Amino acid sequence: MSNNKIERLKQVVRNIPDFPIEGIQFKDVTPLFQFSENLKDLTDVLSSLYKDKGITKVVGIESRGFIMGPILALNLDAGFVPIRKPGKLPAETIEENYEKEYGFDTIQIHKDSLSADDVVLIHDDLLATGGTMHAAYNLVKRMGVKKIYINFIIELELLKGRSLFPDDVEIETLLKYD
Ligand code: AMP
Repeated sequence: MSNNKIERLKQVVRNIPDFPIEGIQFKDVTPLFQFSENLKDLTDVLSSLYKDKGITKVVGIESRGFIMGPILALNLDAGFVPIRKPGKLPAETIEENYEKEYGFDTIQIHKDSLSADDVVLIHDDLLATGGTMHAAYNLVKRMGVKKIYINFIIELELLKGRSLFPDDVEIETLLKYD
């Protein structure tokens, strides 16, 4: 993996103070996608992490997991499966409820989207408390797939989201912040 590329990409992420509410330091990933050089570098470094893992499905979490998710899937010769908020997926779904900072939330996946033969990479843009990805991990695990990898572009290390996951789950993050 190219450390130069990663360092350069880190400079591109924008910090937006007090968005969407006061006290939040929002990491804006849109400049990573906006310029072709950044998008190519991001695609290269993320794809290179999973080239030899035999990934058959990339699962993206709504909504920022829908940007790099399908690009990764194409690069890895895998399919793409969306995890969405309730009421968006039209066929039969299974769902997980999880606790957020304020109240509860639910995510859903199509029941027939994964099978026992699948090696799955779950992708989202950012690991904060880990609640969202933990619910996604539980959802995919319930579908009885062969193996699950987890990937984020950004990790907010101080929030220790990783600690929610079993030690044997491989979690890769590219750009780490305190
Ligand atoms: P969490 O469940 O706490 O890990 O939150 C992860 C989700 O919330 C991700 O899908 C992010 O898009 C979003 N998110 C949480 N905190 C931030 C932040 N500081 N900057 C940008 N996005 C965030």
